[in-house]
Amino acid sequence: MMLAEKVEPLFEAKSHEFYTIATLGSHSALQILKGAHDEGFRTLAIANRQTERLYRSFNFVDEVIGIPRYEDFPEHVGLLGNRKIIIVPHGSFVAYLSLEDHKRMTIPYFGNKAILDWEASRELQRQWLSAAGLNLPRQFRSGSEIDRPVIVKLYGAHGGKGYMFLRDAHDFEERAGLVARRNYIIQEYIIGVPLYIHYFYSPLTGRLEIMSMDRRYETNVDSLGRIPAAAQEGLDLQPSYVVVGNAPLSLRESMLAEAYRMGEEVVRVSKEICPPKGLFGAFCIETIITPDTQFYVMEISARIVAGTNLFIDGSPYSYLNYSEPMSTGRRIARELKNALLSNSLRYVLDDSSVL
Ligand code: AMP
Ligand code: AMP
Repeated sequence: MMLAEKVEPLFEAKSHEFYTIATLGSHSALQILKGAHDEGFRTLAIANRQTERLYRSFNFVDEVIGIPRYEDFPEHVGLLGNRKIIIVPHGSFVAYLSLEDHKRMTIPYFGNKAILDWEASRELQRQWLSAAGLNLPRQFRSGSEIDRPVIVKLYGAHGGKGYMFLRDAHDFEERAGLVARRNYIIQEYIIGVPLYIHYFYSPLTGRLEIMSMDRRYETNVDSLGRIPAAAQEGLDLQPSYVVVGNAPLSLRESMLAEAYRMGEEVVRVSKEICPPKGLFGAFCIETIITPDTQFYVMEISARIVAGTNLFIDGSPYSYLNYSEPMSTGRRIARELKNALLSNSLRYVLDDSSVL
């Protein structure tokens, strides 16, 4: 039985109806606010001058506040006044706000900000994922160590922009000038199918769910196969990894158990590195699956990812658990509702949240 069903009769008014769920108008905001509306919350989009009209056009968005630029959000938190607002972060928060901006905010925030340090540093993230026993691509400290095809990733690259495929150490020497004086990592290039697995971990029930999964569609790497290798010869074609969208995928069922185990291990270790709450809510493990059906993990995102936008109406996996449309955005709102109705809000908010 859901927690909310157990405790709801104790409350005369449904306390969550007095709360507003707010987020920045970008990335997966529509999904988050639609989910919040469907769970009975009020909804607020913080938009910029370009997006204000768009968010006003949706009937599940109760209120839109316009600010000049998303980067300026920390200065405008005062606009939200003394209302009961909960912020749900998504990918644009990390793209537009610094770690310090995140930590300075005391507005109630869904998630654990302590985990951001472990996510933001490639070294710490690697430690976390290794401790969880996940398969990671090899990393090379310098060009001279390279003994196989690699991908060079610039720090702070967004959406795969600025990644470079290199065949060998010689190729690195020739093209290293392109990354000179910038921070980057050199990683073994894994050839296989990229699969992004979307999870939700409930701190209220201690249960992990697979919500959905997607594969990203990237230009131009996903299109190179349209030109036969023979015809590519002599053309100076370099693969690039700029994300343009996401496509749904259902995983071979015999591989689901491993996908679930990876999520469980990541959550388990997160409680050791960021005690006691660890990682909770939505997160995504980004993998590449090789021909021997091994998952290699490239990265973890500690919040809702844009690939979940495919499943605003639910996914095959969320349908199995809920038998009703349950997007990741709605699942977040459901958790907040269950927390409010059982007086457990502190378990689902960052500790900096001033209620
Ligand atoms: P945006 O709100 O579009 O500025 O995106 C914020 C961050 O999320 C950027 O780092 C984007 O690269 C990333 N992002 C946006 N949309 C997607 C998508 N469909 N798939 C993967 N990443 C995305
Ligand atoms: P990321 O920024 O880690 O999400 O990676 C963006 C894209 O780069 C992925 O979707 C893959 O297509 C590609 N990529 C990243 N790491 C690797 C790797 N180790 N091997 C092969 N492709 C990779």
